[in-house]
Amino acid sequence: MLIDAYDVALLDLDGVVYRGRRPVENAADSLAKARAQGMRLAYVTNNASRTPSAVAGLLTSLGVPATAEDVVTSAQAAARLLAERLPAGARVLVVGDTALRHALYAQGLTPVSTAAERPEAVVQGFSPNLGYGLIAEGAQAVRNGALFVASNGDFTVPAPSGPPKPGNGSLSQVIRYATGVAPIVTGKPETPLHRESILRTGAERPLIVGDRLDTDIEGAHNGGADSLLVFTGVSDPLMALTAPPHHRPTYLAPDLTGLLVEHPPVEERAGVHTCGGWSAAWDGPAVRLSGGGNPWHGLYALAAAAWRDEAPAPREAVEPALAGLRLG
Ligand SMILES: [Mg+2]
Repeated sequence: MLIDAYDVALLDLDGVVYRGRRPVENAADSLAKARAQGMRLAYVTNNASRTPSAVAGLLTSLGVPATAEDVVTSAQAAARLLAERLPAGARVLVVGDTALRHALYAQGLTPVSTAAERPEAVVQGFSPNLGYGLIAEGAQAVRNGALFVASNGDFTVPAPSGPPKPGNGSLSQVIRYATGVAPIVTGKPETPLHRESILRTGAERPLIVGDRLDTDIEGAHNGGADSLLVFTGVSDPLMALTAPPHHRPTYLAPDLTGLLVEHPPVEERAGVHTCGGWSAAWDGPAVRLSGGGNPWHGLYALAAAAWRDEAPAPREAVEPALAGLRLG
């Protein structure tokens, strides 16, 4: 089981533990069991607008007891990166929210809000209250030579209902366009947030757990860590099967119960990938899957075949076999 093979789970939040403000099915129960059996848990979020204690409060209200120390944010990763590059007490212009300011204080930096204060860096993090005046101050400071850091590069954020809304990756393009300077990004999939999580938890065998291929799973690849993809958020099994190499997870599960079940190894012989009672192999332009038993073992066999080549498997090559698996 993954709780035995890894010492710390670095868990993404939205789409893994909660969706908006609603708990994800089986999350609280699975995490309680994992913790009871000795796995340490840390919650790693690209969201820079909530403080760690606000995130911990939300988790606790959803039945997942957590303290501020259990939460690692992209704002904290940004603050650490700035503290490593700037002298102690350096002024940093914050184009963002209170949570980002708190993270800078914690690293001994001085948050400011105008270019006239001659900041040595500008840091931008998601805030729904961002105004033109502050963005313009940030752009001016970057033009004056300040280091430009963005807490994350997500172009969108999930909305409680309806289509996604603009995220920090979109908002930070304003300063980028105005100055021609691209920000250093600290959130997933870039490595500073992963590094912050490892430093904070002391993890020796971390397992990244997430729902997004282009942040969580790519971040795990960039950090050299194993990963578990859960299907309670934005990804579905077809997206995983047709993913390029840097978006392919180590493990697959419907939800966080995946921490507590066996993931049998896939064996390959003469092009046939076998897992549990299932076998998958290329047959002309498509993967053929046969056998029976636990359908998630069938998905592992299918994924191993689909991931044979560097090039992503075409949708048509895996869709029929996937449709035959009743993943529930
Ligand atoms: Mg997520």
